[in-house]
Amino acid sequence: MPASRVDRAAALHTALNHATTFLGSLDERPVAARVDAPSVRQRLGEFLPEHGDDPATVIDALATGAEPGLVASAGPRHFGFVIGGALPAALAADWLVSAWDQCAAFHSLSPAAAAIEDITAEWILDLLSLPSDASVGFVTGAQAANTTGLAAARHAVLARAGWDVGRDGLIGAPRIRVLCGEQAHVTIHTALRLLGLGESTAVRVAADAQGRMKPQALAAELASDDCPTIVCAQAGNVATGAFDDLDAIADVCAAHSAWLHIDGAFGLWAAAAPDLAYLTAGAARADSWAVDAHKWLNVPYDGAMAIVADRDAHLAATGLAGPYLVADPGQRDNTNYVPESSRRARAVPIYAALRSLGRTGVADLVRRNCGQARRMAQLLAAIPGARVLNDVVLNQVLVRLPGDDDANRTAIAAVQADGTCWLGGTTWNGQHVLRVSFSNWATTDDDVDRAAAAVAAAVSTPS
Ligand SMILES: *Cc1c(COP(=O)(O)O)cnc(C)c1O
Repeated sequence: MPASRVDRAAALHTALNHATTFLGSLDERPVAARVDAPSVRQRLGEFLPEHGDDPATVIDALATGAEPGLVASAGPRHFGFVIGGALPAALAADWLVSAWDQCAAFHSLSPAAAAIEDITAEWILDLLSLPSDASVGFVTGAQAANTTGLAAARHAVLARAGWDVGRDGLIGAPRIRVLCGEQAHVTIHTALRLLGLGESTAVRVAADAQGRMKPQALAAELASDDCPTIVCAQAGNVATGAFDDLDAIADVCAAHSAWLHIDGAFGLWAAAAPDLAYLTAGAARADSWAVDAHKWLNVPYDGAMAIVADRDAHLAATGLAGPYLVADPGQRDNTNYVPESSRRARAVPIYAALRSLGRTGVADLVRRNCGQARRMAQLLAAIPGARVLNDVVLNQVLVRLPGDDDANRTAIAAVQADGTCWLGGTTWNGQHVLRVSFSNWATTDDDVDRAAAAVAAAVSTPS
């Protein structure tokens, strides 16, 4: 074999060894990283080497240098943010994506990638009970999915007002409005900045104690101005897990011909679990949706879906045209549905995750994590002086620990330092509180019990 091929195999085997050692450590290693980023910088060197190393040596040095700076977020007891693990089939499929090294922009560059994206799109629409003729782009995350959905929205509402934003841009365009809930995710505001709509021009519609946009407040806002309007609703509040009343919101949007976008980064997966699907009632009536795959579906970072009911609006927002492109209406060019041109075959691990879980497996995963959230809420409520602040309808738990903001901050830092689990804090109604999130296939009830005990210990140990 030529030396380069020997090198390639040796590097891959070295990576496999490091990967299996790391994955094997997830159950018991401290969840937080042991060192900070500057320490990793020191370990890995600050100067570009003058002469190269052989591939296996590079992988060895890289893995060894990075090791203490790794967070066990793929493991069963990382309950911060909303973080998924990686299902074995999805992880292995992700390796194949790199080995195949397909440019998954055009069907002519990879019929395999085009076909897999097509199949995966159909499966996703089916599982989430969204319109089967909606178009699906496989993007990096809900940030990109929200941006894509809102770009399609911007195109459509301006087209209805007789303006072609794709051709003529926003300068001189008719006035449009964006309405979102007070508790809209920060990525909605970033998307609005990127789209030239402006973060502060979005009207923040009042929300209730769980963070749900109030449909009556939305109706009043819509009635107050009849210019073309985009409404951003939410399926799954990042703190409480609460769902906006999507049916009521779809009603008022329909009455005012407003475009309805739903940020369902993790929450829309409730549609795949029969006993939780009621939370998403009305979701299918929206015009666009953002859903992550790296959160609840447990594919390795990164993967998400930007879904648009009106394919033409989607293509007007992100379609690519060029003289050297082979347009074939019978075949999918993945790039047309995403902001990127060249891109990895991002749907492949999503396909593998869906195929390895099946319809019942996805439902079980979602249902199991929600049961664990309820279990955690019960255990934490038993800590003297602690209060669960949200209705635990999904996978998120918000808890005010005993004492003031500082006491809550100190306890959360102590839990993180203890390493049994990782939990984050957030501000809710002006108070600093503990936030717990469940979206990992590997988490067991025993992990929940161990984490709850670590929180109880942190609260009772004066620092
Ligand atoms: C996580 C999240 C996002 C952003 O998703 P990324 O995958 O980080 O881009 C947007 N909205 C909600 C509700 C989220 O939970």
